Amino acid sequence: MDHKIGVYIDTGYGIGEALDIEALCTVATGEFSVPVCRAESYWNEPDKLAIIRNDIAGEGLTAVLIAGPSPRVHQDAFKFDGTIVERANLREHVVWCQPPNHEDTQMLAEDYIRMWIVKTSKYEDRPPFMEETSKDILVIGGGMTGMTAALEAAAAGYQVYLVEKEPQLGGWANKYAKVFTGKPPYTELTDSPVQEKIAAVNKSDKIKVFAGHRVFRISGAPGMFDVIVRADGPWIEKLDTAQNEWLAAKKAREAAGGAAGEKKEAEGEPTEPEVPDDPSEFAHEVVRVGSVVLAAGWRPEEPQNAEHLGYGTLPDVITNVQLEELAAKGKITRPSDGKEVSSIAFIECMGPEVEHPLLYGSNVSSLVALKQAQYLRKSNPDGKAFVFYNNMRTPGQYEVFYQAMQDDPGVFLSKGIPTGVASAASGLAVDVKDTLLGEQLRVNVDLVVLSTGMVPVTKDAAVLNLKYRQGPFLPENPYGFNDSHFICFPYETQRTGIYTAGCVRQPMDFQSCETDATGAALKAIQCMELVAQGKAVHPRAGDESFPEIFVTRCTQCKRCTEECPFGAYDEQPNGTPMPNPTRCRRCAICMGSCPERIISFRDHSVDMIGSMVKAMSVPDEYAEKPRVVVFICENDAYPVLDMAGMHRLQYSAFVRFIPLRCLGNINMVWIADALSKGIDGIMLIGCKYGDDYQCHFVKGSELAEYRMGKISETLQRLVLESDRINVQQLAIDEYYKLPGIINDFIELLSGFDPNPYKGF
Ligand code: SF4
Ligand code: SF4
Repeated sequence: MDHKIGVYIDTGYGIGEALDIEALCTVATGEFSVPVCRAESYWNEPDKLAIIRNDIAGEGLTAVLIAGPSPRVHQDAFKFDGTIVERANLREHVVWCQPPNHEDTQMLAEDYIRMWIVKTSKYEDRPPFMEETSKDILVIGGGMTGMTAALEAAAAGYQVYLVEKEPQLGGWANKYAKVFTGKPPYTELTDSPVQEKIAAVNKSDKIKVFAGHRVFRISGAPGMFDVIVRADGPWIEKLDTAQNEWLAAKKAREAAGGAAGEKKEAEGEPTEPEVPDDPSEFAHEVVRVGSVVLAAGWRPEEPQNAEHLGYGTLPDVITNVQLEELAAKGKITRPSDGKEVSSIAFIECMGPEVEHPLLYGSNVSSLVALKQAQYLRKSNPDGKAFVFYNNMRTPGQYEVFYQAMQDDPGVFLSKGIPTGVASAASGLAVDVKDTLLGEQLRVNVDLVVLSTGMVPVTKDAAVLNLKYRQGPFLPENPYGFNDSHFICFPYETQRTGIYTAGCVRQPMDFQSCETDATGAALKAIQCMELVAQGKAVHPRAGDESFPEIFVTRCTQCKRCTEECPFGAYDEQPNGTPMPNPTRCRRCAICMGSCPERIISFRDHSVDMIGSMVKAMSVPDEYAEKPRVVVFICENDAYPVLDMAGMHRLQYSAFVRFIPLRCLGNINMVWIADALSKGIDGIMLIGCKYGDDYQCHFVKGSELAEYRMGKISETLQRLVLESDRINVQQLAIDEYYKLPGIINDFIELLSGFDPNPYKGF
């Protein structure tokens, strides 16, 4: 679609002094015949914005291109109802990183004017995706986290459906003898507030509780989730088994499937577990909700290989969960004979030589040991508590509690590895080595308490039962926790509209669970409100574009369905992808994956980016001015470039940056376009991947690297060196590395002949 574009060049920030502004306007008006091109300083100021509004009304502009500072600033100023706005970065990407009034600097700025006019001209006129949506919330889990999320959402005016598998609310909190206060002086414990919370939930007319129920199925998408709730029963075990078998098969398939992007189903393998499907056969309730808070909580990790500590053989060797239950009943007594306990050894670490130490240990284990030591000391002033740990972790104000326990003469805290627990004359003898004293210790106690880790219940239980083409579970990290981006977006999962809170997300203490619940409830509300307006959620919150498929050219290759990190596509029986726009995070990874190039957004398409590449001026081979296209991820790499500019770091003027929504958005055709235009080198800069991945869209840079690994065929066809393509990972704070990365690549290219396709 052609647009009537006004170009507004900012001469502030040193741009006017460093560039030939008249020549830039000549590019806009001469090469592209734009009807308006103006140059002024600080277009974000009110009187300048008024000029733009006058032009929009007077000249009938449909699009505005602001060429000045980074598009990451003044976003609120440059909003003109119904008019497209694009931003070319002449500040951070040109004048702040290049010498002023230099021929190459001017060529760079002129190219950016060309590239962004071309991009702007290709915007399509498509309305946002609008459907009638629900603004009710489903909360799964009626423990402290779930109840807090429900109460917070209800307090904000939203209807909540709270599903709890047990017949009563409260979860683990019903079993806690005491909890930390979270208040000064931070040295005392208090009664669990669970009963007050249960009363508040039952009193709320905005919360409908399904106690003794489970979620049988969730289908649909954010704003339109259809949830079947069913009374708990043996059916859940059948579902657990079916889903775990399916998950094991899926993991085996992925392990055998090689790199990301090539994970297709084996012939005949089911795409989802075989589960009873017809709700008409049993009593159920159906609710429609806009979003889901998953607060299903944790289960204790069974101590593994703890026989040397007497676990499973000595009745007075118990877990910290069992001790909590004993303490909640009143006095702490020995399971073997009911005698009141006067000494306890708390074992936090079962020893490095143990084959399976606690995988799910956390700071909560340390805090629970300290808390339970205080139970003993308060109930028996002569009691003795021995806490043996490898790492004592007491974050924040818990350090004050830790110090109070250190000062208690009845509490003995020591680093140490227990080597054995055996029956002794009056109880149990615990041997410990590698203590702080450097000695082998033996202590005699009435009771031994082993730490347990906190395993997310979703790890091996059917909780959400999603009716998604990608399966019923949330994707999880290697430890079974569900997360989308653990660094930047807590609560987010890889299924849009479903937010995790509490120990299903990571082990956490009581207060953290409450804070987490509030955060997740707010994210759930934010999601419903945005999708009701046809807008994307985090991280492209407010984006009104969404992917559309030109279905008649679809070959049913399933790449889009497989590579979408968020399960946005379901599938028709013939394999054609069925988009669910409200599940979509607008990363455009599917656009990059489609070999037919038929997935596009109204403001971002294969044609648009390819045309930007083609719009660049490429000097001939005698000019000794190589050209490099750098595709950069807008999430971390773009801010890196801006920061490099802000620090006035200088690098080669031969590079042209093109931002993508994610590096996984890269489409191979752009590489071919660039090479056949005579571009000498292509670089991709994206987020770090691996264990501590930072990709906002989970696996974008990994996919890009994988796709680039396959480009050698294209290069061979064009008789070009494979080193002309370079992929880099940069963390958001590594701006200082940018000049080195760019200049090294230019240096490398100087060892090659110019791309022979220049001029074609
Ligand atoms: S844009 Fe991203 S989230 Fe949306 S459908 Fe495509 S791959 Fe999935
Ligand atoms: S990647 Fe493209 S061709 Fe393949 S299934 Fe998706 S839309 Fe169809």
